Amino acid sequence: MKRNTWQREAVREALDRTEGFISAQALHSDLHRSGSSIGLATVYRALGDLASTGEADSLQSPEGEAIYRACSTTGHHHHLICRNCGLTVEIAADEVESWAQRIAAEHGFTEAAHVVDVFGLCEACAKA
Ligand SMILES: [Zn+2]
Ligand SMILES: [Zn+2]
Ligand SMILES: [Zn+2]
Repeated sequence: MKRNTWQREAVREALDRTEGFISAQALHSDLHRSGSSIGLATVYRALGDLASTGEADSLQSPEGEAIYRACSTTGHHHHLICRNCGLTVEIAADEVESWAQRIAAEHGFTEAAHVVDVFGLCEACAKA
């Protein structure tokens, strides 16, 4: 039985309402604007929790900040992210999977995992 379940739920709902990736701080201000008194440390913890159970994606922005998103795909996958508007496309990357397996094996690594996210400009942002 976990404490802070309602807080985790509040964070999850706020994340569901958010388009694209968001930082813990930005999510925290959103929650405050909507009248929640939840603390920043709790938001960080809840996001970490959701990320570890696979309910949220977490990755590093190009600025090195941890950002989160409610994930619509379960299981291992990759993202294509617009660095301007945050549009995110969930992608499978079979070539990456076989490359990562091969390169790890060549160096004698087992239990290899990887995080591959591609940042760029989406079509709409590139046109604007
Ligand atoms: Zn995802
Ligand atoms: Zn964009
Ligand atoms: Zn992969």
